[in-house]
Amino acid sequence: MDGVTDVTASHCTGCGSASCPGCSRTLDPPRFCAECGRRLTVAVSPGGYRARCRDHGELTGP
Ligand SMILES: [Zn+2]
Ligand SMILES: [Zn+2]
Repeated sequence: MDGVTDVTASHCTGCGSASCPGCSRTLDPPRFCAECGRRLTVAVSPGGYRARCRDHGELTGP
């Protein structure tokens, strides 16, 4: 995604660190919630992925 300036997205979706600028590859599904850094429950399917944060709900993507 381009131009992501949301200040709430303060955690890396690749490792969950608040100080990491982002180490996950674009094509990888997020493994940690960008908002809280909590580990997501990720289910990957041929059509995309479904990642669920206990606090922030479900994220889906290609
Ligand atoms: Zn990271
Ligand atoms: Zn969350």
